[in-house]
Amino acid sequence: MRKKTFLLLLVCASMFSTLRAQSPTDLENILSQISADSVYATVQDLQNFGSRLAVRNENNPDGNRDVADYIIQRLENYGISTSIDSLDIHGGIIYGMWIDQWFYNVKGVLPASNPIDDSLVLVGAHMDAISFNNGSYTSMTAQVPGADDNASGVAVMLELARIIHENNLQFRRDIHFMAFDVEEFGLIGSRHDAQKRSEAGEKIALMMNNDMVSNQPEDEDWKLTFRWYDNAVDVANHAAAICEQYTDLEPVILPETENWEMASRSDSYAYYRYGYRAIFTHEYTFSSSYHTLHDVTDSCNYPYLAEVARYNMAMLTAYADPTSGVGLEEHPAVTTSTYAYPNPCVGKVILQYQLEQDSPVSISVLDLRGCIVLRIDQSVQSAGICHSELDLSSLPTGLYLCQIRTDKGVETLKLLRQ
Ligand SMILES: [Zn+2]
Repeated sequence: MRKKTFLLLLVCASMFSTLRAQSPTDLENILSQISADSVYATVQDLQNFGSRLAVRNENNPDGNRDVADYIIQRLENYGISTSIDSLDIHGGIIYGMWIDQWFYNVKGVLPASNPIDDSLVLVGAHMDAISFNNGSYTSMTAQVPGADDNASGVAVMLELARIIHENNLQFRRDIHFMAFDVEEFGLIGSRHDAQKRSEAGEKIALMMNNDMVSNQPEDEDWKLTFRWYDNAVDVANHAAAICEQYTDLEPVILPETENWEMASRSDSYAYYRYGYRAIFTHEYTFSSSYHTLHDVTDSCNYPYLAEVARYNMAMLTAYADPTSGVGLEEHPAVTTSTYAYPNPCVGKVILQYQLEQDSPVSISVLDLRGCIVLRIDQSVQSAGICHSELDLSSLPTGLYLCQIRTDKGVETLKLLRQ
């Protein structure tokens, strides 16, 4: 039954093949169109608002409504249908301020053509900003330039929209572009959106968050940090592989002890809390202008920001069109839907992977010295999405590598036994 369905899908895919957007080679050409000048222009536009402080003040009598309107206009120019999702916060004191007002999340939707499933890919960044005098958390400034934090992340999102529009790219999953308001007061905009989507039963294949992605000293190695979540460890590995393959940036994935604090401090965390899979990308060298009046356009590195946008475009293509082949060069037999759950686990763990053709499957679990501690040889599995169950309860706690081997290649996942 599964096999028949899959063959039917293959037929459909070939019927619609003229709509197929981009092969890995096309992608190289598309990435070359991502422009440092273009991302710079967006950062400058956002800085020009003077203040993007989400809470109402003399400079921002209607909060960030004007910023939301700007992003709406930009997305509309790229043929993306948009809406503002207003949220009303009654009460609460943060940084000594009483909050009782409307906030404005921007949402843009690019529908899939010939969708492969009912999940979407979300590209998000917070548009609000905050700044303090002399690093004092009691003294907010009236001006808030917020160039790196986080006009840079919004610039990446809008650059993707521009490139998609100018190349008339089609994808196999809906893409949602989100600009979040009021992140700086506790991820309020993103929590609102993640909760709404969760309650509506929306499926998100991946949430991609960019927050502070333009600080890079010229004389240091260009690196990009990926913050990961324990329900999506494979996503971080995949992001790193894509970053290496399609950009000049060296990917950095931190060990769990160093990963977590920052992973919980940006909008992707809100989606993780609602069970969604997410990846959070930020500059490796943390900006010394963070939350000050010095966070201005002149202190950002735009060729670096353009490279970050290139990683995002390749990653978006891999997840919004898993049939494109983009990002699968190192994973020839299985697609991006490979993952293990629950992970971390205490005993039983289910592996999910997708075979593009019938194949024998062998699963090995290795300890960090490379010794095989568990092995399962499956008979030939039918093409499509497969599940295998492992039981790690007899193994000591710690990190293991799980290799899924088919006659087309090997996929490796990290498993954490608690
Ligand atoms: Zn930020």
